[in-house]
Amino acid sequence: MSIILSTLNARYTHASLGLRYLLANMGELQGETEIMEFVIGGKTTEFAERLLAKKPKIIGFGVYIWNVEETARLVALLKRVAPEVKIILGGPEVSYETAEQAIVKDADFVITGWGEVTLPELCRQILNGPQPLMKIHVGVQAKLDDLALPYQLYTDDDIKNRTLYVEASRGCPFKCEFCLSALDKTAWPFELERFLAEMETLYQRGARLFKFVDRTFNLNIKSSLRIMQFFLDKIAAHPDDPVFAHFEVVPDHLPEALRESILKFPPGALQFEIGIQSFNPAVQTLVSRKQNNDKAADNIRWLVEHSHAHMHVDLIAGLPGETVESFGAGFDQLYALRPHEIQFGILKRLRGTPIIRHTDEFALKFDPFPPYTILANRDIDFTTMQRLVRFARYWDLVANSGRFANTLPVMLGDAPFARFMAFSDWIYAHTDATHRIALDRLAKLVCMWLQGQGMSNEDAEALINSDYAGKQPKVSDKKTSAPARQQMHLVQ
Ligand code: SF4
Repeated sequence: MSIILSTLNARYTHASLGLRYLLANMGELQGETEIMEFVIGGKTTEFAERLLAKKPKIIGFGVYIWNVEETARLVALLKRVAPEVKIILGGPEVSYETAEQAIVKDADFVITGWGEVTLPELCRQILNGPQPLMKIHVGVQAKLDDLALPYQLYTDDDIKNRTLYVEASRGCPFKCEFCLSALDKTAWPFELERFLAEMETLYQRGARLFKFVDRTFNLNIKSSLRIMQFFLDKIAAHPDDPVFAHFEVVPDHLPEALRESILKFPPGALQFEIGIQSFNPAVQTLVSRKQNNDKAADNIRWLVEHSHAHMHVDLIAGLPGETVESFGAGFDQLYALRPHEIQFGILKRLRGTPIIRHTDEFALKFDPFPPYTILANRDIDFTTMQRLVRFARYWDLVANSGRFANTLPVMLGDAPFARFMAFSDWIYAHTDATHRIALDRLAKLVCMWLQGQGMSNEDAEALINSDYAGKQPKVSDKKTSAPARQQMHLVQ
């Protein structure tokens, strides 16, 4: 193979959509191009050995926040043992602040932004001459209708064992300063019938779990309805062969027609990821996030009360102007709406995002190493930020996991944020760990904490047992294609 397209995925189950787009658009070079995916945490020398065994002339790497450190090591190693192999980098992590990065210094070429047009052009020049003079190439942004769609490149093994990422649109019209999509200026839709024909083929080949990477699925309601109807038709035709679709939606835009469609989905078929990020209007203004909080809250409440959609709602701690108190108030407001999961993220400084304009005024201190998480700011010192980081981890284990559905409301009482922060501080002091806490041990710790709060031994154990005894995801009864974690919430 002359050309290998490679990346280090965060997990085996994540099949890279980006690499498949590139391969689909390699033109006459497609026959001599191959995808090789690895998973982070493996041995760099083994990755290099397997890549070089293909005797490539060019290796292109997709570089992301989760793999940049390991990819940098791999590139440095490859350039030592096989300097004749040309290395091309692409992906969001090398698309901004490009020149100063160590990984870029070791590579031969970089494509910033979109790669589908520029990568094959660059490969042609490398293989056939004249040799490209510039190291950094600004990726040409193709019209979406001109791009070959990549979905036939998902193998049968991908369809059977991995999450299938799909996109009906690219980009986002909003400008939230902490988000890379803020740089897109707008959203571009793929031609809907062409996209749906690809989804049909994937479905016929056995795909049942579709994860849409569109940043704002509910921007164009006509398209959203058409896509949802695609899944509803499958469910109606084959009620015993469930599908599961995941969409990212903006929370304050849920017109009646969309609500009607959502109501038709049975349990375990639909998941929404909803970004609230902050309920604090002053913070929203500071980071240029436009959101009608009342409408957003009403919509989340309506979805939780009336639909079967699994609700995963995002908040971000560490935004400029957000204090622990205001974050806690937003957390309590969100918890009161009872989404199935609250994803509590810590602000990261993604390369290229405009959030850095607040650095001086709000004393933003970011970790210089990926994933560039905020360490402290004017309103939250380092120690407090670490408490928030641990809160997020324990919240995931106890609340988002769905394992303590009866116990959690008792733990949280009428002050969810304050009480869970107290639990988080307590459990950390007892375990010195935020990872590798087995479920049995976690249940015992929760029980101990409840007793420390004044609950009798018997009552605490009975409460834990009401959650803990016999509640397993219904993986085997095949009423849903939802992942195991979402199935835990269906049990309740
Ligand atoms: S946070 Fe969401 S709405 Fe805001 S720019 Fe990013 S993708 Fe768009």
